Amino acid sequence: MKKEKAVVVFSGGQDSTTCLFWAMERFSEVEAITFNYGQRHKLELDCAADIAKELGIKHHVLDMSLLNQLAPNALTRDDIAIEQKEGELPTTFVDGRNLLFLTFAAILAKQLSAKHIVTGVCETDFSGYPDCRDIFVKSLNVTLNLSMDYSFVIETPLMWLNKAETWDLAETLGAFQFVREKTLTCYNGIISDGCGHCPACQLRKKGLDDYLARRILELKR
Ligand code: ZN
Repeated sequence: MKKEKAVVVFSGGQDSTTCLFWAMERFSEVEAITFNYGQRHKLELDCAADIAKELGIKHHVLDMSLLNQLAPNALTRDDIAIEQKEGELPTTFVDGRNLLFLTFAAILAKQLSAKHIVTGVCETDFSGYPDCRDIFVKSLNVTLNLSMDYSFVIETPLMWLNKAETWDLAETLGAFQFVREKTLTCYNGIISDGCGHCPACQLRKKGLDDYLARRILELKR
């Protein structure tokens, strides 16, 4: 384990909770940062707070309601349906969200003397979000270092994993049951396996089914 400090961008969902366990295994000190940008479900914030508390992680919640004011979207407004039209970004996309989140996380990280910023962004199950791409993260890393004259390292443990591989990583970290039972991915605000029919639940379920099927195959071998 490195005697270094990390800040994890943390929403209480499957991906960022897996990242939190990944960071806890790697770094001697870990803190979590959650952004409040008027998510549909305050439950998401409660879920993040509960997980951080249970894991004994110091949890920072930053108000980012500005984001909703600038870019109303399906994650923050009940009157906008969650959908994705052919060739378009889904209505859950918020321009600049990761740019802002990572920038604010970096400002906090520097204050906390943390060098590592961990985020669960991923290019593999890419919904077309430009600021989840590896090239963007690398570019921002350079910009942040120049802007604050500090050697941040943005860590993206999930960048090249599909959803099944993310479950596999959780298992490797000894966190499979925890992630399955305590995280919130569902757009309808239902913890664990969720409502089962919203796009977030379907994606999570597909990854879980693929992972469990593979695990059964491995057991049979
Ligand atoms: Zn759901």
